[in-house]
Amino acid sequence: MATDAAKDVVHCTGEEVRGDFRCAKCDLLIRSPGEADGVLVLPICTLCGSENWRRI
Ligand SMILES: [Zn+2]
Repeated sequence: MATDAAKDVVHCTGEEVRGDFRCAKCDLLIRSPGEADGVLVLPICTLCGSENWRRI
C-alpha cells in the first residue's frame, strides 16, 4: 500500500529537518546548513507558497 508514499515522504513547514528537500509543487530545492547541528526549519516555499516538501 505504501509503494509510492514510501519514497515521497512529505514534510511540512515548521518541521526541523536535515538534508535536501524539494517543494512538492514547484520543485524548488532547499538544503539544510552543512554545519554539525545544521537543522533546517522548513519554510513556506518562496516561489509558490506551498507548505509541503519532499526529501530527496
Ligand atoms: Zn514551491
